Amino acid sequence: MTEFTPAPAGLPRHATIREVGLRDGLQSIAHVMPTEQKLQWIQGAYDAGQREIEVGSFVPARLLPQLADTAELLAFAKTLPGLVASVLVPNLKGAQRAMECEAELMLLPLSASHAHSLANLRKTPDEVVADIARIVDAREATGSRTVIEVGISTAFGCTLQGRVEPAEVLRLVRAVLDAGADRVGLADTVGYADPAMVQALFALILPVAGDKLNCGHFHDTRGLGLANVYAALQMGVTRFDACLAGIGGCPHAPGASGNVSTEDLAYMLASMDIATGLDFDKLIALRSKLAGWLSTETLHGTLWRAGLPKTMKPANAPSPTMTAVA
Ligand code: ZN
Repeated sequence: MTEFTPAPAGLPRHATIREVGLRDGLQSIAHVMPTEQKLQWIQGAYDAGQREIEVGSFVPARLLPQLADTAELLAFAKTLPGLVASVLVPNLKGAQRAMECEAELMLLPLSASHAHSLANLRKTPDEVVADIARIVDAREATGSRTVIEVGISTAFGCTLQGRVEPAEVLRLVRAVLDAGADRVGLADTVGYADPAMVQALFALILPVAGDKLNCGHFHDTRGLGLANVYAALQMGVTRFDACLAGIGGCPHAPGASGNVSTEDLAYMLASMDIATGLDFDKLIALRSKLAGWLSTETLHGTLWRAGLPKTMKPANAPSPTMTAVA
């Protein structure tokens, strides 16, 4: 959409933003969004050009009542042509539901932090790897075509354990690829990463995982979300998770933002001439709808307030500033 600076050498020409607000965002806030609003969100994100949306999670409703309508959302998402609808699944039971509902992709979380894994799933990382192998076997047995992506959470550090060794992340990536996972992504679940850490960890893992490592999931807890995306872009990563209005957060950092905000990330990429296929006017309109639905929550992001710079508007669009001084 811009005719300005070409992407610097070494940066990709295209990138995909997967909307994860309906899962990662909504699971972190107490408000239960009505299904009708979620359906409007999915439609709005689709209309704005998003082609990967994580619609929810197959976890027991008593644990996450916010996501209890995931099957209904998935059924709707599957009616939208070309949309890759994904769901998070924490175990074999959830994976079976995802396959029955014919999700295009299921995201299996695996904590690189031993302490986080025990707290979150009550299993060690190696027990989770064994579960992932069972899920791969179940997929083979049913002939399901649901893609299996493993998200390595707390890959850059953990609020419970502190440091997470890169060698441990590498070991787990090897293990899940050996177990038959199709893809793997690295997640900074609690916002501990910085751009140097991102480059170092991707540099360590890419030679082992190759193009099976293709997703960066960065929380903006400490304001480094977009910087971390840029660091990953420089490593050739072209898929990023983001939440509209940066919703979500971290239970260990009250008031902190969630994932990088979809609209700000889309702006950064477009400004660097990296194509995402997203329509800013529609994204911003959807954001203001979301702001109405979540009027009691703190939202994040900056593009909605400042608008696009004049240099990124179509050449024939009237400029408010010029009109004012004319
Ligand atoms: Zn997350």
